[in-house]
Amino acid sequence: MPLIETKQLAKKYGQDETTVQALYPLDLTINENEFLAIVGPSGSGKSTLLQLLGGLDTPSSGKVTIEGQDLYAMNERERSIFRRRNFGFIFQSFNLIPILTAEENITMPLLLDGKKPDLTYLRELSRKLGIEERLHHLPGQLSGGQQQRVAIARALSGKPKIVFADEPTGNLDTRIGEEVLDLLIESVREFGKTLIVITHDPKVAERASSVLNIVDGRIMEGARQ
Ligand code: ADP
Ligand code: ADP
Repeated sequence: MPLIETKQLAKKYGQDETTVQALYPLDLTINENEFLAIVGPSGSGKSTLLQLLGGLDTPSSGKVTIEGQDLYAMNERERSIFRRRNFGFIFQSFNLIPILTAEENITMPLLLDGKKPDLTYLRELSRKLGIEERLHHLPGQLSGGQQQRVAIARALSGKPKIVFADEPTGNLDTRIGEEVLDLLIESVREFGKTLIVITHDPKVAERASSVLNIVDGRIMEGARQ
C-alpha cells in the first residue's frame, strides 16, 4: 500500500466570478521513504497541495489517504490528532512560539499529544542538529538558522512518518540555508521517514528522489522522475 494516495484531489478558492482553481483533479502516489520536491512558479498551487496532503486544509473534491486512512473523512479533532501522531511540519517563517524556550517548543507537540518525551531521542536529535547548547534560549535569542534547526527538531520530536516543509530555507541566506537543508535531509533519513518539500531551489530538487512540477494548478507531464 502506498504511504500517501490522492484520488481526483482538487481545490478551488472563492465563489462565482472570484473562483481560483488552485489545484486541478490530481491522482498521486507517494511511497514510504521518498524525498519528494514540489517545484513550480509562485502562485501555481504548491502550498495548496502541501496543505491538502498534510491535512491542514479541506479539498473541494477528491480525497487523500494515508496508509489507506481517509484524511478528510475524519472530523477536525480526529484529523488534528492524526496530524500530531503522523506528521511534522516546517515552515519558511519557523513559526516557533516566542515565549517558550527552544526545548519547550520542541517538546510541545508531545505534550499536546499526552506523550512522555523520549529524552534520549531528543538529546540525540538536538546533538545532530547542533542545538544542544541553545535549548534554554528563547527563539528571539537565536539566529534564523538556529531557529529553523529548532523547528526541524520540533517537527521530528514525535517521530513522524512524514515531514512536510514549505520553503524551509526561504528566509535564510544561501550558505545557512544549505547547512539547514543538509541537516533536514540527514535528520529525516535518520529519525523520520518521508520528506515532502516545496522549494524554489534547484539544488534541493536535485537531491530529491522525485520531483513534482506544478504550473497553474496542474502537474507537468513527464516532470516526475
Ligand atoms: P504557491 O504555493 O505555488 O505559491 P498557492 O497554493 O499558495 O501557490 O496558491 C495557488 C493559487 O491559489 C494562487 O492563485 C493563490 O492566490 C490562490 N490561493 C491560495 N490560497 C488562497 C486562499 N486562502 N484564498 C484565495 N485564494 C488562494
Ligand atoms: P508560498 O510562499 O508558500 O508560495 P504564499 O505567499 O503563496 O506562500 O501563501 C502563504 C499563505 O497565504 C498560504 O497559506 C496560502 O494558502 C495563503 N494565500 C495565498 N494566496 C492567497 C490569496 N489570494 N488569498 C488568501 N490567502 C492566500
